[in-house]
Amino acid sequence: MALGTPRLTFGELAREQLEIEVTCPNCSHRKVIDGDAPALRHRLVAGARFRCEKCGSVGLPELGKHRLWAQRLARHGRRETGSG
Ligand SMILES: [Zn+2]
Repeated sequence: MALGTPRLTFGELAREQLEIEVTCPNCSHRKVIDGDAPALRHRLVAGARFRCEKCGSVGLPELGKHRLWAQRLARHGRRETGSG
C-alpha cells in the first residue's frame, strides 16, 4: 500500500496500525485520533483538518511513522531469533 496518496482514507491508516496524531501549531497540544471511527473511516487524509481541544486552532493530522518503524524492527529481530 502506498502511503501519502491523495485517496488514502483514515480507515486505511488504521488498518495499517498507523497512529494518527494531530498536532496544534499554536499551543503544541497533541491528540491521537481513532481512524477507524465511523465518522472518519471514509474520510480522506489529504485536506483533513481538526480543531484543537484547547485553543480551537486548526491542527494538521500527522502519521505516526515511528510506529511503522518499530514494527519493521520487530519483524527483523524475530527473523534472527526464530527457530524452525
Ligand atoms: Zn491548540
